Amino acid sequence: MVCNRFTVKPLLMLLFPIAALCAYFMDSYNTVIDSDMIANTLQTNISEARDLMSGKLLLYMVSLGAIPAGIIYRMPLAAMSYRAEFFCSVKSVLLSIGIMVLAIAPFSAQYASFFREHKILRYYANPVSPLFSTVRYFDKHRITGSDPARNPLGEDARIPAADTDRELVILVVGETARADRFSLNGYARKTNPGLERYQSLVSFSNMQSCATSTAISVPCMFALRDDDSVDIEKFGRTENLLDVLTHAGVSVLWRDNNSDSKGVARNVRSENFRSAKLNPTCDGECRDSGMLAGLDEYITGINQGDILIVLHQMGNHGPAYYKRYPESFNIFTPTCNSNQLEDCTVEAINNSYDNAILYTDYFLTRVIALLQSYNDRFETALFYVSDHGESLGEHGLYLHGLPNMIAPREQREVAALIWFGKNFEINLDEVTAHAADTYTHANLFHTVLGLFEVQTSVYNDKLDILRSAHR
Ligand SMILES: [Zn+2]
Repeated sequence: MVCNRFTVKPLLMLLFPIAALCAYFMDSYNTVIDSDMIANTLQTNISEARDLMSGKLLLYMVSLGAIPAGIIYRMPLAAMSYRAEFFCSVKSVLLSIGIMVLAIAPFSAQYASFFREHKILRYYANPVSPLFSTVRYFDKHRITGSDPARNPLGEDARIPAADTDRELVILVVGETARADRFSLNGYARKTNPGLERYQSLVSFSNMQSCATSTAISVPCMFALRDDDSVDIEKFGRTENLLDVLTHAGVSVLWRDNNSDSKGVARNVRSENFRSAKLNPTCDGECRDSGMLAGLDEYITGINQGDILIVLHQMGNHGPAYYKRYPESFNIFTPTCNSNQLEDCTVEAINNSYDNAILYTDYFLTRVIALLQSYNDRFETALFYVSDHGESLGEHGLYLHGLPNMIAPREQREVAALIWFGKNFEINLDEVTAHAADTYTHANLFHTVLGLFEVQTSVYNDKLDILRSAHR
């Protein structure tokens, strides 16, 4: 029954392509389009987006989107009087409700608890939800014109005069690295052959991510959080860890081989390593190790004070894990050489993923080697924390980005570790004793301030992973 000539046609024509996109994502990656997914989509870059494109997507969009929309477009609508149209609409709404009541009533008890337990179904079942999610995203992010001034944070931060040693810390923001895929944490495959050689390295095997996507986790990692809530809007309008360090006089540099800093590096020097312009190791894919190029000049160019360098990795970004490492890291085989994960066996997908972890292991050893060359001039340390985990076929799920409420543990248990240079004043036994404690991304803010011995009212030593080891 088609009644309304003004809204029915355009609405139906719009719904089909959206439904086609939903069907593609559900079928290919078992994932749903909520407002966080919209955020990921809008903040992604061209090469990441290209990883998701495929002939299959085109097929879905044409066969389930464009063709039905075309048929609707060509369908003639009978011209009715407004009165007839009104009654026709009322009739069809009542009829639809009647059918729904008849279908659901006999099972109402089951349905009520079923929908309460599985809230995600409203995204699965409803083709309008991506539209709703998009509106909600823009509503949440109603930032107009230029960057608004941000609420200051930790303006009282300073480094005590007694701390005369210079600190050089490299903070690596990892991408999609699961804790249980690091052999440092007991994974049966040797995925950390490089890092396992270091004595003064502690892997934190029980670190929980703030969220399950880059767009939310990265701002969250650098934010001061008073509780477990994840208020991305608040993170955006408040200064973060990098600003507090700047207030204390630390030189901060952000280098990015991922999408971007998600606004975190807004007030500090930031460099893009996703193209061959700055990154010397691009072979179709710009490698994370390229972010080390020219760091010597940067470090030696700063004559006084402490230095923090943040390296934002491409890491294990999916679904094209096979693109994340050079040929020489193709150790676990056979691999999945497609972004169509359903074309591959679970084993092949996991092999590609583990090879990408091997490459991160190599990258981190390169970072440590660079820091070691400054041991005589600085107290050096590497702090590595991944932004979120990844589903690799567990419960039939792939990739990441499910809302925290329903996200499986694989998407939130992330790899994290600290390596200390030989002059770093730290009680290593004390740190090691607490390596398996439960930590979250909320600890990062305070732990980094602790590494630099920054004094500020926003520092909470109870959340500093190294608190007992400092003394
Ligand atoms: Zn990520």
